[in-house]
Amino acid sequence: MTTAELRAADREVLWHPFTQQQGWQAEDAPIIERGEGCTLYDTDGNAYLDGVSSLWCTVHGHRHPAIDAAVRAQLDRVAHTTMLGLSHPPAIELARRLLAVAPRGDRELTRVFYSDNGSTANEIALKMAFQWHKLRGDEARTRFVYLDMSYHGDTVGSVSVGGIDLFHTLFRPLLFDGLRAAAGDAADLERILRAHGDEVAAVIVEPLVQGAAGILLQPEGYLRAVRELCDRFGVLMIVDEVATGFGRTGTMFACEHEGVVPDLMSVAKGLTGGYLPLAATLATERVYEGFLGEFHEFRTFFHGHTYTGNPLACAAAIASLDVFEDEGTLAALAPKIDLLAELLAEHVAPLASVAAIRRLGFMAGIELTEFALQDRMGHRVTLAARRRGAIVRPLGDVVVLMPPLSMSPRELTRLVTITAAAIAEATGVPAAPAGD
Ligand code: PMP
Repeated sequence: MTTAELRAADREVLWHPFTQQQGWQAEDAPIIERGEGCTLYDTDGNAYLDGVSSLWCTVHGHRHPAIDAAVRAQLDRVAHTTMLGLSHPPAIELARRLLAVAPRGDRELTRVFYSDNGSTANEIALKMAFQWHKLRGDEARTRFVYLDMSYHGDTVGSVSVGGIDLFHTLFRPLLFDGLRAAAGDAADLERILRAHGDEVAAVIVEPLVQGAAGILLQPEGYLRAVRELCDRFGVLMIVDEVATGFGRTGTMFACEHEGVVPDLMSVAKGLTGGYLPLAATLATERVYEGFLGEFHEFRTFFHGHTYTGNPLACAAAIASLDVFEDEGTLAALAPKIDLLAELLAEHVAPLASVAAIRRLGFMAGIELTEFALQDRMGHRVTLAARRRGAIVRPLGDVVVLMPPLSMSPRELTRLVTITAAAIAEATGVPAAPAGD
C-alpha cells in the first residue's frame, strides 16, 4: 500500500487514543514503518528523532540488538503461556532481577505480581491494599488518597485516583470516591489523614514528578514525608513508578532520590525497554504475608489477565535489564542529563513564548506562555517539530521531551534545537541562536 492508501485506510477503520478524531481526519500524520536507535522512519522514508521514547518507554531506543535477540530466542521456545496454575522461566528470572534492582532501605520489596499495562499495575496495587486491610480485619479502610493533578492510567479504577480534571471529571459518576490531597504538600496530606486516617487503605503517588500533569515537580523531602505519614497513620504507600522507573530520572527508580521504599510499587512502560506490554506490581513481604494462612476464599487475590507475565515480554525485560548493566546506561546518562539541562537553558529558556521549563533527569516539560485552548499551541509546536524531523508530544501547552536514555549528545542537541525552532515558529516569536 502507498502512504496515501494507508492514510485513507487508517481514517476508515481506526480510532486513535487521546485524539479528537475529527481533527485527525484532516491531519497527515506520519505512518511509522521502522525504527533504529533513536530514529523512526515513515513509509515515505522520512526520518524523525524519537523525542518521547515512543510513549516514554523505549529506554534503549529501537531495535536494540540484545533485546531483539532475546525476544527471538524466546519465540523459539514459547510465545505465551498462562501464569494461572503454571509458571515459566522468564517470569521467574525477571522477578528475581527486578527485585534485585528495586529500591531498598528501611523495608524491601520481595514479591512481583505481573500484569500488562501501567493502569492495571496501579489498580492491582489499589486492590491489594484494600484486600490486605480487610484480611487483617480492618474493614473500615476502603478509601484511597491521591494527589491533585495525579495520573495513574485510564482504566476506571486508576481514573478514580486521577486528579487531572480534563481527563477524569467526565467519568466521575463511574468512579469510586477518593480523597484528593494538594500535590507536593505534606501538611495537606497530614490534615486529610488526621481527619480520615482510619478509613484510608493507601496513599498513591507518582514519585518526585507528576508526568502527565505536565512534568510537575514535588518539593524535596515530600516523598519522604508521605512515607512517614503513611507509617504514622497505618496506611500503605503505593508508589507509581510507571513513568519514572527504569532510569528516567537518573536513578533506576525515582524513589531512590529520597531513600524511600514503598509498600507497593507499580512499574510498566520502560520495563521491557518499550518493546512489549508488560507491567508489574511489587510488594513487600509484609503485604504478601497478609495473604498467607489457612485456606480462605479471600486469601486468593482475584486478579489475573490472559497476558499476565507474557514470556516474550519477560524475555525483553530481562534483556533490557542486561543492557542497563552491560552498557552502564545510568553512568552514561549522568553527563547527558547535564547536557540536556544546558541545552534547554541555552536554546529554549530565552524564547519569549516559554513560561517555564521543568525537568528531572531525562523528563522535561516546556510550558508555553498562555494561549487560547482552541489555538492548540502545544499541538502546533509538535507539528512544527515533526516537519523539522523530531517527534515530540504536548500535554496541553506543555511540550514534553522524554528522550531514550541511549540518545547521543549530538542527537540530544538536535532534538532541543529543533524543539526551540518549532516553538519559535508555532508561537511566532524569534528563534534563539542555533547551536547545531
Ligand atoms: N502511571 C503513570 C505515572 C503514567 O505516566 C502512565 C502512562 N502515561 C500510567 C500510569 C498508565 O500506564 P499505561 O498507559 O501503561 O496504562
